Amino acid sequence: MNNPLRILYVEDSKIDAELVVRELARAGFDPTYQLVMNESEFATELQTMPDVIFSDFSLPNFDGMRALELLQESKLEIPFILISGTLGEDLAVMSIKRGAADYLMKDRLTRLGAAVERALDEQRQKIEKRQSDAAFKQSEECLRIVSNFARIGFVVVNAEFQLVFANPAYSSLFSLALSGMTGKNVLDLLPIDIQQPFRLRLEKAFAGERSEYELRMPGENGQSYYVVNFEPVVYGSQNAKVVVGIMDITARRNTEEQLRQSQKMEAFGQLAGGIAHDFNNILTVICTYSSLLGHSHALNTNEQFFAKEIEKASQQAADLTKRLLEFSRGQMQRPEAINLNELIVNTQKLLELTLGKRVELSLILAPELRQIWMDKTELSQILMNLAINSRDAMPNGGRLEIKTEMMELPHGKTENGTPDKPERFVLLTVSDTGNGMNEDVKKRLFEPFFTTKPVGKGTGLGLAIVHGIVCRSGGDIDVLSEVGNGTTFCIYLPPSIEDSKRTEASISYNRPIGGSEWILVVDDDEQVRKATCTILLEYGYKVNDVESGPKAIQAMVEFPNKIQLLITDQLMPEMTGLQLIEEFKNRIPKIPVMLISGFIPDSDTWNYVTTNKLNFLRKPFSPDALASLVRSILNQTAEIQS
Ligand code: ADP
Ligand code: MG
Repeated sequence: MNNPLRILYVEDSKIDAELVVRELARAGFDPTYQLVMNESEFATELQTMPDVIFSDFSLPNFDGMRALELLQESKLEIPFILISGTLGEDLAVMSIKRGAADYLMKDRLTRLGAAVERALDEQRQKIEKRQSDAAFKQSEECLRIVSNFARIGFVVVNAEFQLVFANPAYSSLFSLALSGMTGKNVLDLLPIDIQQPFRLRLEKAFAGERSEYELRMPGENGQSYYVVNFEPVVYGSQNAKVVVGIMDITARRNTEEQLRQSQKMEAFGQLAGGIAHDFNNILTVICTYSSLLGHSHALNTNEQFFAKEIEKASQQAADLTKRLLEFSRGQMQRPEAINLNELIVNTQKLLELTLGKRVELSLILAPELRQIWMDKTELSQILMNLAINSRDAMPNGGRLEIKTEMMELPHGKTENGTPDKPERFVLLTVSDTGNGMNEDVKKRLFEPFFTTKPVGKGTGLGLAIVHGIVCRSGGDIDVLSEVGNGTTFCIYLPPSIEDSKRTEASISYNRPIGGSEWILVVDDDEQVRKATCTILLEYGYKVNDVESGPKAIQAMVEFPNKIQLLITDQLMPEMTGLQLIEEFKNRIPKIPVMLISGFIPDSDTWNYVTTNKLNFLRKPFSPDALASLVRSILNQTAEIQS
């Protein structure tokens, strides 16, 4: 089948055109043509995108060179062949120079078919080349974007270990200037201590083996971690190339480390909680008997002294287990109205010990300070954590200033733009003359586990805890710091609105008086139960003791009018203390109750205790504390009933 060919023909002689076209048909084409004789016809027909343009050299109102010019202006890529009866050598050369595909004489048309075919072929090649150039340019552009913006640093290395290509992430990783790197030996550009492992893996990669290893380098905030990949892309030939990629995995490492750390803390917390609970039971027994011994007249003064020493030591042990429990439970808060100045003065000794001799502590306390509503332990924790950080920031000594003052803060604006009532705060300022912090550290300061201290020195929990406490108390925290210019933490604490009585028994220091009432003691730990009974008996009370909730209910049913006070442990296998108390309240509401526990109650239990104004005593307790709370409960009940 013949090739269809659409021709735009610039020619004033239709006969000449017919001749040419017939010649083409003979050469195997199936030509159709449109004859044009002037510029405007030419321009219009050009838009129909003919396959080829033939043109005579000169026409009355137009000429071949002008047509060629118009074609080029149009940017259309259509082969242009000059066919003339008069074309001389010079004109032919000129037309080719100006972009004609070919030229032919009208009386020598045998070459026409081949000429058209070649022109079309060249045209096709030109278009293909342009397309592939564009594709190449685009892929080069993509590579440029990827290599410039990739967070992964990579280089292409040849068999001589010379750099063929390096991206900016790679050069900045090793603090190199990107320009001028190409051609250099990749090993020469690395820190000495990583050259050897690099070389080994490069050699393997050029033998066709891919590998990956982890690299550690000192970074801005401590150690940075990288994973380095060696990928042989071409190997075993002269053109061998290896791509080395380096990815920063510090953040991932840190997260893993944090996770490990927090899992460890959690496990440790559980362990500590368990041990502390059992210890509290044991300590209750020790406290009880040592205290009773200490007051025994059967002992001589020396022996009484020994007993008191044992009691003191067991009190210290009790303090320790309390702290362990608080740690394991993420702390149970007991907010109360506190005078911040008083607390600071009481903590001063401990602070001075912590800060050491090289740091001078100065207190500037406002003469009049409103009370704040907070947990005392937590407040001391804030002071201690800040002081420890300041001490660490002043390795060569310095000054720590703790200041309190009343402060008014503009509390936002009302809707019509006038300032709302200013809010009053108690402001605690802790300033040191230490190393200070840069912006990066300041940004991450309160993140849990963020630390700039070496492993084993810092946990990164100090400020996270401070932040948590302050926010939970409705306060706010601010930090001002500059490298070399010390650090100031401003802590805004809302003043207490009302004083509230604490539910927990306050221990009276005069030896309490006893009584003769009947008391039912419920505890699953036999030794603790016996110790509790011993104290009560010692104070003159009558006691029944049982080891479980159901047994207590049985006792209540048997002696409904005898029991005058129920003392129960909280954690027991069959029934908890609170369940037992509920049961008692439903059946005989007039009997007062008291809860004891070796655990710090969880927040639900504590809410129950506070909202129901339940009498609560924490194990281990001293005989005096138990006796005094028992007496006060019984007195109150007597008052209500009389
Ligand atoms: P840690 O003390 O265990 O590192 P913190 O949460 O208490 O954890 O503190 C986090 C980081 O904040 C510290 O590692 C330190 O870089 C910075 N920082 C905290 N307080 C100060 C301070 N007073 N001066 C300088 N840097 C501090
Ligand atoms: Mg700290």
